[in-house]
Amino acid sequence: MYVFQRAEDLHRYLSGERTNNRSIGFVPTMGALHEGHLTLIRRSLEQDQTTVCSIFVNPTQFNDAADLEKYPRTPGKDLEMLAGVGCHVAFLPPVDEIYPAGWRSDLQLQFDGLDQRLEGAFRPGHFAGVAEVVDRLLELVDPHRLYLGQKDFQQLAVLRQLVSQTGRPVEIQAVETVREADGLALSSRNMRLQPDARRAAPAIYGVLKQMKAELLAGRAPEEVKARGWTGLQEPPLRPEYLEIVDTDRLLPAGNLQPEHSYAIVTAVWAGEVRLIDNILLEA
Ligand code: AMP
Repeated sequence: MYVFQRAEDLHRYLSGERTNNRSIGFVPTMGALHEGHLTLIRRSLEQDQTTVCSIFVNPTQFNDAADLEKYPRTPGKDLEMLAGVGCHVAFLPPVDEIYPAGWRSDLQLQFDGLDQRLEGAFRPGHFAGVAEVVDRLLELVDPHRLYLGQKDFQQLAVLRQLVSQTGRPVEIQAVETVREADGLALSSRNMRLQPDARRAAPAIYGVLKQMKAELLAGRAPEEVKARGWTGLQEPPLRPEYLEIVDTDRLLPAGNLQPEHSYAIVTAVWAGEVRLIDNILLEA
């Protein structure tokens, strides 16, 4: 596996791959890798001839300096895991490689409120930071396919907008959420859960599954949501939001229409750790 820190070295290597007509798959991450990330890498390895994984904890998407500082960093173990699955290239840029002195993003995106709702309401500026870093990484890697997890459902919707509005010639591949056996969605943040919070956290997916079953059985969304909200209040869980939304604009759904697709999205504090999860409402 090649490990690059400098964009120039990455660029030189990938130019050679492109000259040889090899398709490039790209998996952007913030490291502290787990089986969810590796599933994205494996999907890329199946479909593309060269797989690039970036590890970059992007400061501009953290609205809370303490959260940025506490974000887990395990680069040595990450590189072992990437080499273990057969990833071809790991890109671990320092901050000044992504944001050189004087660099300014010229992105002009119209999210029409998509970046302000749900996560955006609780993490102001988060999606502007995500769009900025992913656009920059796409510029540097210029992949054929971009692999993203459905775990970060709103991020996926925002990045679909980024790609469609910038016209970057990249195909987005959405990968389903990988979970622990007890249903907890894998997340780099899980390693910070205290034992009581770890025991309580699988209830988040339990509530989402129950809500889905009730909605598919024809119960009214408002009633289902109220019951779900109560279910997420078992200490040390504290829900921040819980919404039934359409999968495109992530606007709250009134009455569900058969021809539309919906998801239930939530953010819940488990002790000191903020977790997000979602479930799609397909039968
Ligand atoms: P992160 O390192 O948290 O920024 O995540 C990097 C990529 O991995 C994003 O596209 C995430 O949506 C995806 N990802 C994170 N957790 C999971 C999971 N449990 N299952 C599938 N994909 C995931």
